[in-house]
Amino acid sequence: MSKVEKDVVIIGCGPAGMAASIWCADLGLSHIAAEKGSAFGGQLSKIFQPITNYPGIASIDSRGLADALIGQAEAVGGDLRAKSDVIAIDPNRLTVELASGVQLTTKAIVLATGVRRCRLDLAGETELEGILESGAKQAAETANARVAVVGGGDAAFENALILSKFASEVTVIHHSSRFRAREQFLEPARRDPKIRIIESAVVRELVGHNGKLKALTVDGRDGIMQIAADFLLVRTGVVPNAELIASFAKLDPKGYAVIDANCETTAEMIFAVGDVASPLAPTIPTAVGQAATAIKVIRQRLGREV
Ligand SMILES: Cc1cc2nc3c(=O)[nH]c(=O)nc-3n(C[C@H](O)[C@H](O)[C@H](O)COP(=O)(O)OP(=O)(O)OC[C@H]3O[C@@H](n4cnc5c(N)ncnc54)[C@H](O)[C@@H]3O)c2cc1C
Repeated sequence: MSKVEKDVVIIGCGPAGMAASIWCADLGLSHIAAEKGSAFGGQLSKIFQPITNYPGIASIDSRGLADALIGQAEAVGGDLRAKSDVIAIDPNRLTVELASGVQLTTKAIVLATGVRRCRLDLAGETELEGILESGAKQAAETANARVAVVGGGDAAFENALILSKFASEVTVIHHSSRFRAREQFLEPARRDPKIRIIESAVVRELVGHNGKLKALTVDGRDGIMQIAADFLLVRTGVVPNAELIASFAKLDPKGYAVIDANCETTAEMIFAVGDVASPLAPTIPTAVGQAATAIKVIRQRLGREV
C-alpha cells in the first residue's frame, strides 16, 4: 500500500470540495481533493437550467460554473484527483484509504461528499429502458409518451410541468396527501389538463416488456392498480453521503453530518461541508462558504495563522 502525506485531505469535488481546494491553495496548505467520479463538479452536472441565484453572477449555466471552479483550482495550485474513491477513514490515525489501495495520511479531513438521489429500490429500476435521470434534459425523449413522476416536492412538480409540454400524459404519484412542493409548482400542475395527481399511493412494482418500462403497479386508496407508463422519473428526495463517518461521528436522524460553527464534526479535525452537512440550505453558496470556514479553521489549528 503506497502512502501520501498532506495537511488536508478533501473528499469529494463538487462545489464544496473544489472551494476547499482553492482555499487550501490560497492559504498554503498541502492537500489532495479526491473525487470518486471521472469528472469534477458533483451535482452541477445534474443542473440543466441556468443558475440565477448565485450572488454576484446574474445567470450562469452549471457547466460554466463547474469549469470556472476547476480552472480556478488548477490556476492557484489546487490538487483535484478524479477516479479516487475514498472507501474508509481512520479517525484516530487521521488516515484516508482509497479504493486503489493508496493510503493518505493527514492532519485534517474535509468530508464534501454531497448527497445522492433516493431510489425506489424496485427490480428493474436500473436496467429498464424508460427510467429518466432528468426531466429538463430528457423531456424531448418523452414526446407523446406516458410519463410517471414519483414524489411530492418541488423537484417532482417542476419536472412534471416540464414533461407535460412534451408527453401525452404525466401522472404524479405521491405516498401522502400532503405535498412539500410550493404553490408556484403545485397550482399550475393542478390546472394542467395533462397532469394527473395520485395521492396516498406507493409504487410496488415496475412492469417491463422486452426490456422497456410499460407500467407501474401502485398500491393506493382504492387498492392495487396499474398505471401505464413509458417513462418514469423518481424525485423522492436525497440521502446524504455520510456513511464514511457514520461509525465514529454524530449524524442527525436523516443521516446528515452534525457540525459546529467551525464546520467540524463530533470527531476532532474531521470537518464536513456542503450538502452532506446542510439539510436546511443545500445550495452552492452554502457549500463554498462552509469550505472557506473549515479551511480557515484548519489553518489556525495547524498553527499557520499569520
Ligand atoms: C437539479 C438541481 C438544481 C439545483 N439548483 C441550484 C441552484 O439554482 N442554486 C444553488 O445554489 N444550488 C442548486 N442546487 C444544489 C447544488 O447543486 C448543491 O447544493 C451543491 O452541488 C452541493 O455541493 P457539494 O460539493 O456539497 O456536493 P455535491 O455537488 O453533491 O458533490 C459531492 C461530490 O462528492 C463526490 N463523492 C461522494 N462520495 C465520495 C467518495 N466516497 N469519495 C470521493 N468522492 C466522493 C461525488 O461524486 C460528488 O462529485 C441544485 C441541485 C440540483 C440537483
